[in-house]
Amino acid sequence: MLDYTYEDWKSRADALSFRGQAFINGKFVDAASGKTFDSINPATGGVLTAVAECDEEDINRAVAAGRTAFEGGRWSRMAPGDRKAVMLKLADLIRDNLEEMALLDSLDMGKLVTDAATIDAPGSAHFFQWYAEAIDKVYDEVAPTGPGDLALVSRVPLGVVGAVTPWNFPLDMATWKAAAALAAGNSVVLKPAEQSPLSALRLAELAAEAGIPEGVFNVVPGFGVTAGKALGLHMDVDCLAFTGSTAIGKMFMQYAGQSNLKQVWPETGGKSPNLVFADCEDLDAAADMAAFGIFFNQGEVCSANSRLYVERSIKDAFVEKLIARAQATQPGDPLNPASKMGAIVDEKQTQGIMRFVEQGKTSANLVIGGERVTVDGKGCFVQPTIFDDVAHDNPLARDEIFGPVLSVIPFDTEEQAVTMANDSIYGLAASVWTDNLSRACRVSDKLMAGTVSVNTVDALSAMTPFGGMKQSGFGRDLSLHSLEKYTALKTTWIKYKA
Ligand code: NAD
Ligand code: MN
Repeated sequence: MLDYTYEDWKSRADALSFRGQAFINGKFVDAASGKTFDSINPATGGVLTAVAECDEEDINRAVAAGRTAFEGGRWSRMAPGDRKAVMLKLADLIRDNLEEMALLDSLDMGKLVTDAATIDAPGSAHFFQWYAEAIDKVYDEVAPTGPGDLALVSRVPLGVVGAVTPWNFPLDMATWKAAAALAAGNSVVLKPAEQSPLSALRLAELAAEAGIPEGVFNVVPGFGVTAGKALGLHMDVDCLAFTGSTAIGKMFMQYAGQSNLKQVWPETGGKSPNLVFADCEDLDAAADMAAFGIFFNQGEVCSANSRLYVERSIKDAFVEKLIARAQATQPGDPLNPASKMGAIVDEKQTQGIMRFVEQGKTSANLVIGGERVTVDGKGCFVQPTIFDDVAHDNPLARDEIFGPVLSVIPFDTEEQAVTMANDSIYGLAASVWTDNLSRACRVSDKLMAGTVSVNTVDALSAMTPFGGMKQSGFGRDLSLHSLEKYTALKTTWIKYKA
């Protein structure tokens, strides 16, 4: 697959068929209303397929199916080793269908197919495998009560977990929630983003093929204000795992308060700072990663390194390096392996990014990019864009743009850099570049972020938790800690004759 040409990818895309129906209780079904919406390819504006436009009634059906499956115990009480085998099979099936999974995300939301084929789709298989392997290796506790009392402290599945996910990594965001929630023994009702529902629907089909019993994993496409809200307000959903914007994360907290006090795990926006100190020895590596940190996935990354703080003595030279890298990262057809950046997810997001860019042209120093462009006369594409000398309080440096737009801000002292980096409502990720060990540790200590990467950006693995501080939300995906979100602590106290 890695040697596929542009023509290879195009012919495979043309041959693809799409699942557009909801997957409820082990079957593909239409929305109860019969309504559909179009799934659009942002690189061409073309319609890929009609997708079931589910609303409250469909959510009710899916939650009921999840509840019945949970209470029946066909997954929730399956022996851990058996559950592991099924999820390992699912990981294998994702690998067997890697090319299709990659194409679905690329076509649906505009990311480079090569990235989807080398990062997103293999990542999904890896995360399912990782949680599968954990299932029969996580032990519970016995409390130190002494003779006559046996107190077991165990982690039990919650029941029905709702998951609402965004469009920037459609397959992986669905996976991060579903793999951990399923591993813990729950039923899942997933509402993927309306911009990119196709890979999640195919994932549900593969899950069924792997042996996940009917009703255990349901995928219900639809809009946020209807399907998403119905899941958030549902009286029989035990937990709601959300990844998306801060504004909607706050709404899910309210939905829980208005309904059944379900657990809510928000993983929300970011405006991640990247701090480059003059004592960083490899400034070329720092520039490579600074560019990657904002241009990868068209900048549509929650942890995108969108604020770049550079020590003033090296700032101009560093910006020159960045300009060269931006120049080499122009957008192209996502199906062309030679393209360096893909399409923005849709027209609305593109216009939102361009509003920030136009405002920036009158308030900061545009050094490269700044235009919306087309590829073959079509689509939603934005040039890699860099603003220099951005005032710390400029909206460019404060608001999440979620596009390929970098704000460069000079600093004079370490203290000033840390203060500016932390002066944000967000706290998802941060990066530090220095070869002074004490400075690396000191600055990492002070940065208010869920992940601090030193001499790299966006460090992420199945082994380490991912999530934020402040208004980036407090949910954590990945690692064994994520399993805790999907379980309740249960004490079973047994009195016996000592
Ligand atoms: P969004 O908040 O608009 O939508 C996310 C999901 O919520 C979608 O499925 C949507 O249909 C649903 N939704 C929208 N309105 C709703 C409502 N009123 N009630 C219930 N559900 C509703 O976000 P988006 O534009 O899809 O994604 C971009 C955002 O996601 C960015 O802010 C980004 O930072 C964030 N994100 C965060 C992480 C993380 O791990 N912290 C990861 C990826 C993306
Ligand atoms: Mn789409």
